[in-house]
Amino acid sequence: MSSLPQTWPDARGRYGEFGGCYVPETLMGPVEELNRAWQSVRHDPAFQAELSRLLKDFAGRPTPLFHAQRLSEKLGGAQIYLKREDLLHTGAHKINNCLGQGLLAQRMGKRRLVAETGAGQHGVATATVAALLGLECVVYMGEEDMARQAPNVFRMRLLGTEVVGVSAGSRTLKDAINEAMREWVTNVESTHYLLGSVLGPHPYPEMVREFHRVIGQEARRQILEVAGRLPDYLFACVGGGSNSIGLFYDFLGDASVKMVGVEAGGRSLKLGEHAARFAGGRPGVLHGTYTYMLQTDDGMVSTTHSVSAGLDYPAIGPEHAALFRAGRVEYVPASDGEALEAAKTLARTEGIIPALESAHAVAEVIKRASAMSRASIVVVNLSGRGDKDLGIFQSFG
Ligand SMILES: *Cc1c(COP(=O)(O)O)cnc(C)c1O
Repeated sequence: MSSLPQTWPDARGRYGEFGGCYVPETLMGPVEELNRAWQSVRHDPAFQAELSRLLKDFAGRPTPLFHAQRLSEKLGGAQIYLKREDLLHTGAHKINNCLGQGLLAQRMGKRRLVAETGAGQHGVATATVAALLGLECVVYMGEEDMARQAPNVFRMRLLGTEVVGVSAGSRTLKDAINEAMREWVTNVESTHYLLGSVLGPHPYPEMVREFHRVIGQEARRQILEVAGRLPDYLFACVGGGSNSIGLFYDFLGDASVKMVGVEAGGRSLKLGEHAARFAGGRPGVLHGTYTYMLQTDDGMVSTTHSVSAGLDYPAIGPEHAALFRAGRVEYVPASDGEALEAAKTLARTEGIIPALESAHAVAEVIKRASAMSRASIVVVNLSGRGDKDLGIFQSFG
């Protein structure tokens, strides 16, 4: 390893060998303009003060760190603490990033946001911020996803956003990203592309990470306050990787803190039946970045499956690829069945119905906690709430 994880990325947007900026000629200008704007606001006190105000008064930060005593007792091992991102406005951590990029777009003089969405959670958070800041908003969504996630389509439209169906390819998230990027190139003068995770070309992975670091900064302060020491373990689910890097980042320099990222193990670990990039993927380029991705033998992007739409994406953020390669973070899959079971367990022991994405992290904690001592401290990122998943819980009984 040539540099410490905390110094990533370098000036070219590289995390070790991963990351970078693989975009067509037409997108180089917009990406560079964005990078200049981002680098100029990231340490600007006025920008940070406005963002902090909105995170507090609009989104509901700081989120609590809750000692899940009954769950800890039931498993008979580690003391488990939940970082309650599920309590944020719009129901998940995504609003942290949307507020940051929304304010940045405003600073750049853009009047319009474009975004992609899979399950609709990022689309709803973007539509919410657009309404708050008085910006126009267009969200691209695969037609397959629009049918599966009709309530979120309705929410976005109620918020004044135009939702455009994408009929290309598998009619899901990766096709929506292609369309959103195309739209950005066409209307770059007026439009900011508000990407939803730590993916895409530099500076997106860095910028989105910075907007979510508040999760780990709060958790660190909170656990020191209640337990008087750092945790032994951090757990978070990993789709693109934004809620997990947000929690992990400010602990990376603490060698005693072990970290586990939980990917979607889906129905099985056969290609096409899961989204566990480190269990079956290899490096390649997707949507502007070099990272681990699920692909066929001849390099075609693989189809993926997860019971949780938020984890159902063939690539992972490049910083995670580097942390995996460096051995700093352990990545494991949890299956659909394990996540559904974990959600039920959390609901019944703590009165909290988690998003199915977050339930993957809880599932891994359930597997491990009983083997840990009662003095061990575990922090789990509860990235979102389960309201959006009621239909899925119902169909699985
Ligand atoms: C979108 C989403 C995720 C996955 O995205 P990351 O970028 O990996 O955080 C996880 N949990 C919830 C609740 C989500 O909405």
